[in-house]
Amino acid sequence: MIKYNKKQVLVTGGAGFLGSHLCERLLKEGHIVICADNLFTGSKENIHHLMDDHNFEFLRHDITLPLFVEVDEIYNLACPASPIHYQFDPVQTTKTSVHGSINMLGLAKRIKAKIFQASTSEVYGDPEVHPQEESYWGRVNPIGVRACYDEGKRCAETLFFDYNRQHNVNIKVARIFNTYGPRMNAHDGRVVSNFIVQALTNEPITMYGEGEQTRSFCYVDDLIEGFIRLMNTEDEFTGPMNLGNENELTIGELAKTIIDLTGSRSKIIKHPLPQDDPTQRKPNISLARKKINWEASIQLKDGLIKTIDYFEMKLK
Ligand code: NAD
Ligand code: UDP
Repeated sequence: MIKYNKKQVLVTGGAGFLGSHLCERLLKEGHIVICADNLFTGSKENIHHLMDDHNFEFLRHDITLPLFVEVDEIYNLACPASPIHYQFDPVQTTKTSVHGSINMLGLAKRIKAKIFQASTSEVYGDPEVHPQEESYWGRVNPIGVRACYDEGKRCAETLFFDYNRQHNVNIKVARIFNTYGPRMNAHDGRVVSNFIVQALTNEPITMYGEGEQTRSFCYVDDLIEGFIRLMNTEDEFTGPMNLGNENELTIGELAKTIIDLTGSRSKIIKHPLPQDDPTQRKPNISLARKKINWEASIQLKDGLIKTIDYFEMKLK
């Protein structure tokens, strides 16, 4: 693991799935971590094991409101990420991306901190370009049910680049593709957690549509390594940078793999495909390879086994 100088780091959304892994990694590197989270989809359980660390501090805070702390770096991860959660209160989702980004960028500007944005492959919408590279502008339905998330994240990117051009804020924008692993919320409806929980409980596997839509799943440890490397690029480098696993598979294949790995008796049951569900998604990670010498290294089966172990323990 590369060692960096000790820093004070703010992680918004730090009690969520990705945020809790990031806090853990930053603490392991010896940094002081402030985790700000309103616990909408995250939980104290995710960061319970960090609470006794004197370098860790938890703040219950909603980033749509201003925050004043002194830090060297900000990782802005706060935002519900699963369709059922971000569609639960879509106006709040847009506010979190837009008002939240303005607050965090304003903070970064004032205290001259470097700021990382957890953007998403959803900025590409239902893409006509495959695999997706950073130069592609995307195909998002601006008035659909996913728009609160997709357009919110697109506007957040706009704000990041305008704060960079207008106020010289040091920004790092990552476009994250589907990521999975321990501490995913079991009830947030994302496909990996849904299928694993269903398989472990021998309940029907809820496959949406014909299961022919594709995704490329990245294990969380690989992704967090990418975050750290991107944050440590030279000041002039802003991204956006795709971070994800190139291994593309259909949702039907994912269902079968999870049934095999769990030895489940579950049957696959088809459900209607949700509105605007992207038909294919795979990152082009040439930029990450070239700039930060990064690619995902954990094989899908290995990552799924670790995730299955986690959910098995949770379900006990
Ligand atoms: P998550 O839902 O587990 O974590 C999000 C965290 O943000 C939660 O702890 C939640 O309580 C917190 N939060 C939400 N709104 C907030 C607000 N207004 N103020 C403060 N905290 C708030 O999701 P995740 O998978 O860990 O995603 C983290 C980030 O990464 C999100 O910004 C998401 O858009 C992005 N992302 C994730 C994926 C993925 O596959 N996991 C893919 C693309 C992008
Ligand atoms: N999906 C599915 N069954 C589920 C949950 C999701 O077939 O129980 C599908 C969903 O329609 C999508 C893919 O799996 O095509 C990934 O869904 P997820 O919500 O995990 O992520 P996103 O759609 O944001 O990529």
